[in-house]
Amino acid sequence: MSKATGLKCVSCGAEYPVSRMFEGCPRCRDGEFAANLTVQYDYTDLNGLTRQEFGSWKGEGLWRFAPLLPIEAEECRISLLEGDTPLVLCRGVSEKTGVQVFAKDESRGPTWSYKDRLACVATAKALEFGAKVTTVASTGNHGAATAAYAARAGLDCVVFTLPTASEAMLSLMQAYGAKLVATTFYGRWDLMSHCVKNFGWYPLGNYVHALPTGNPFGVEGYKTIAYEICLQRDWEVPDIIVSPVAYGEGFYGIWKGFRELKQLGLIDRTPTMIAVEPSGGPLSNAVRNNLPAPVRVPSKKSVAFSINGDMIGMQALVAIRESGGTTVEVPDAEIMAAQAMFGREGLYVEPSSAASLAAVWKMARAGGLSGAKSIVCIITSSGLKDPGATAAVNPKPPVVEPQVDEMFRALKDVYGFEVASRITY
Ligand SMILES: *Cc1c(COP(=O)(O)O)cnc(C)c1O
Ligand SMILES: [Zn+2]
Repeated sequence: MSKATGLKCVSCGAEYPVSRMFEGCPRCRDGEFAANLTVQYDYTDLNGLTRQEFGSWKGEGLWRFAPLLPIEAEECRISLLEGDTPLVLCRGVSEKTGVQVFAKDESRGPTWSYKDRLACVATAKALEFGAKVTTVASTGNHGAATAAYAARAGLDCVVFTLPTASEAMLSLMQAYGAKLVATTFYGRWDLMSHCVKNFGWYPLGNYVHALPTGNPFGVEGYKTIAYEICLQRDWEVPDIIVSPVAYGEGFYGIWKGFRELKQLGLIDRTPTMIAVEPSGGPLSNAVRNNLPAPVRVPSKKSVAFSINGDMIGMQALVAIRESGGTTVEVPDAEIMAAQAMFGREGLYVEPSSAASLAAVWKMARAGGLSGAKSIVCIITSSGLKDPGATAAVNPKPPVVEPQVDEMFRALKDVYGFEVASRITY
């Protein structure tokens, strides 16, 4: 049975009952500052829990870990059989860096991104609260996952998006029956806020103008990534977790999962958390300048559109500081080079996800991996969400007459691929 006992501010520590609180901690809210609330548990029932017992927990999708998730009512635990994603050893990259580099491939989830974990738990909580409509402001994966789980739960779903959102992402959301409305960047949050306050719509993401606060129940879903990594590695905790961040919800959730396993006595150390942003990101700005809280930074363009925000939640900074971690900033060219590197490992990942490998590469060059034996990169989504980004850095496939000479010449000219002069098997 789940033992969620309340919500607690990650900044000032104030505690609140489990309730529909999505605007952060009222006590320490101040101007542009807002702090995330996070779910608290009573672990008494889990005293003395062994690794074997934890490993043998059963359930559909994420609900395998139901005792550590904030949903009491079993009938509310909806699932699309999310989670249990593979942890793939990247052999080429491991050889080149001298560190075991694993990819936790979340692109294999129901909507091909790690937002499924958030949407699963947050939507289950919506059912428990008796909500009828779920909503989110998103141009991409968050909207797709919210829409899919609303469909699964039999709830209506309204996604506030932007006119600039990609057709592929909008189609994905509409495929699950979500009702999409495009409006202005800040207007999305104002409309969403109005509907949350006046009509009881249930938000799966942020709608405040201060530092993003979002849905604390959904963030719990990300803890399961940490649980799975420990099980998949037979309890050998990786030295470093590298994950791309936007609002930092996934980043904090994964960190919280490890922290919880240590609290339960199942592991004796936790990994260092490395957050990755495009150059000029808000978390990097806060870490570099040793700020007490993140602040808004100027917006910029990046090929990594899922992690290109101008602000980030307080909880991301908490995860960095608690884990002794830091941030790495990566420019577009390195992101696309990393996407190709993952490609040669047999993994096609969204540019935002490739940023994690670009960061590993950057740390390796700077000597920042010395002492580390194993690293896990979180592959947050699939490359098929944005094939245009890949097409832009690759040669256009040559069109040739069906003649052997011409075909060989094209292979050589376009790809530098020289054909051996004799048959090789
Ligand atoms: C949302 C998203 C992220 C960042 O997640 P946050 O919890 O907002 O930090 C990273 N990668 C992809 C592909 C995403 O969709
Ligand atoms: Zn507070």
